[in-house]
Amino acid sequence: MNDRCFVEQAATSDILLRVTNVCSVCYASLKEGAKIYYDMHSYRYVCESCKEKLSEHMNEECEIEKNEAGLF
Ligand SMILES: [Zn+2]
Repeated sequence: MNDRCFVEQAATSDILLRVTNVCSVCYASLKEGAKIYYDMHSYRYVCESCKEKLSEHMNEECEIEKNEAGLF
């Protein structure tokens, strides 16, 4: 887990406007007050499940490592 790569916040309407296309699939289910995570390396907001997926691919510097699947 690389939780230190993310800052947990409660989503506000302003934050929800800034959720990026990384999260477009789950964006519809995000609501104000939900937990949202700021990716400090890529400067973007993602939801909890996207954070989990991203952190699986992150190295110690919070960088997304290329993998065979190329999901990100
Ligand atoms: Zn998401």
